[in-house]
Amino acid sequence: MFKKVLIANRGEIALRVIRACREMGVETVAVYSEADRESLHVRFADDDVCIGPAPARDSYLRIPRLIAAAEITGADAIHPGYGFLAENAEFAETCAASNITFIGPTPVQIRTMGDKAAARAAMIANGVPVVPGSPGPVEDVDEALGFAESIGFPVIIKAAAGGGGKGMRVARDADDFARSFQLARSEALSAFGNGSVYVEKYLERPRHIEFQILGDSHGNVIHLGERDCSVQRRHQKLIEESPSPAMTPDLRKKMGDAAVKGAKSINYVGAGTIEMLLDEDGSYYFMEMNTRIQVEHPVTEMITGVDLVKEQIRVAAGEPLSITATPEMRGHVIECRINAEDPNRNFQPSPGKIDVFHPPGGNGVRIDTHAYAGYTVPPFYDSMIAKLICHGRDRAEALAKMRVALDTFIVQGVSTTIPFLGRVMADPHFVEGAVHTKFLEQEGAYLLKDA
Ligand code: ADP
Repeated sequence: MFKKVLIANRGEIALRVIRACREMGVETVAVYSEADRESLHVRFADDDVCIGPAPARDSYLRIPRLIAAAEITGADAIHPGYGFLAENAEFAETCAASNITFIGPTPVQIRTMGDKAAARAAMIANGVPVVPGSPGPVEDVDEALGFAESIGFPVIIKAAAGGGGKGMRVARDADDFARSFQLARSEALSAFGNGSVYVEKYLERPRHIEFQILGDSHGNVIHLGERDCSVQRRHQKLIEESPSPAMTPDLRKKMGDAAVKGAKSINYVGAGTIEMLLDEDGSYYFMEMNTRIQVEHPVTEMITGVDLVKEQIRVAAGEPLSITATPEMRGHVIECRINAEDPNRNFQPSPGKIDVFHPPGGNGVRIDTHAYAGYTVPPFYDSMIAKLICHGRDRAEALAKMRVALDTFIVQGVSTTIPFLGRVMADPHFVEGAVHTKFLEQEGAYLLKDA
C-alpha cells in the first residue's frame, strides 16, 4: 500500500479522497492555489504545498509543480480527482516517469477513451452498440454531410476531444449543416486545441444512463449498476439517481453486459464510467467512457455500500478489487448538485462569502461538501459547493427525504440552486420518473423560470 498520496485537486473531491486515505492509514498531501489557502482540504491533509496563483492553468493544471510537490513531500502516489488533469494521459505518463503511481487507468486507456472518435471505433470493433454515425473523425464538410444524409437528420456534430458539454452542435437539416459543422470545428479547436469532429444521429428524447465500472490488474472487470443522469441543463448533469426509473432487470443485464464488454476490451483498470443513451424505443448506445471517478459516484456508493475511492486506491497499489461481482443494489438513491449560482439570473455564478451554512442530516442523508460558514466561494473554479445524496427504501422515500433535506438546507451569503432543485422534486414528470435529457428545455422549462 502507498505511504503518502498527493491529491491533485481541490474542493469536495479533495476532501473525499483525504477521508478515504485516512481511513486506510495512508498519509495525504494537499496542493492549493493562492485562492484556496483557507480550504478544508488544506487543513485536513498531513502536508500541504501551494502550487501557484488562482487561475487553474497557473496552479492545478501545472504538471511540473504537482510532480515537484509530490517529490518534496515524499508522496508515492497521486490521486487526480475529477476535472483538471484527471483524464490527461501526459500527466499519468509524467507520474510514471517520476516513479509516482497515478491512481487511475493507464495512459493508453486514458488516450483511447479520451478521443471519442477512437473510443467509438474501439466499441464498434468489440460489438458494443454505438449511436449510428460516422465510424471515425470526418475530414471535411462534404464527407460529414454524406454521413448526415445517410443516417438521416437531425444529427449532432461532436468534438473528438470534447468534454463538459462543449464542442457539440445539432444540425436539423442540410441547410443548417455547413454552419453547424464549422461552428463545432472552431469551438473544438479553441476549447480543446483539436478540431477533429465526428457525426452522430441526434436522439430527440433519450435518457442518459451510465454504468459504474471497476477493474483491477488481476483481470476482474465488473459493473456496479447504473445511474440515470437525464436531468441536465445545457448538457450538464444536475440530478442523478439509481436505479433508473426506466430500468428493468433484463435491460440492466443487457446494458451492464455491454458496458463490461466495452471496459474489458481495453483491459480497464480502476474506476470508470460507461455513458450510454437509452432511446425512447428501448435501444441503447455507447456514448463515451470517462476514465476517472465521477462527481455522482456517491449515488453508487450509497446503493451498493462499496467505497469507490478506496477501491481505486487499492487497485492502483496492485491489489485485487474487494468485490468481484456486481453487488446488490438496495433501495433508491437520488443526488442533487448544489451550485453557487442564481437560478433567477440564468444560473449565473454567485461567488462570495457564505455567512450561514446549515446542511441537513439524518438517516440516509449524505452531504459531500467543502463549504462552511465563513468560507468564500472563489470565482475561479466550478460553482458546485455541495452534493446532497438521499437514500430511501424506495424512490418515494428517497424523494421525500430529498425534499425535506433541501428544505432544511440553509445557505446565506451566496445564491444557490437549492430552491430550483426543490421545485424539480415537486414536478409531476420528475415524480413520475418520466424524464429525458431535454426535460428542462421542454416539459420542465417552467422550472428554470419561476422562482
Ligand atoms: P461531454 O463529454 O461533453 O459530457 P457527452 O458525449 O457525454 O459530452 O454528451 C453529453 C450530453 O449531450 C448527453 O448526456 C446528452 O444529453 C447529450 N448528447 C450527446 N450525444 C447525443 C446524441 N447523439 N443525441 C442526443 N443527445 C446527445
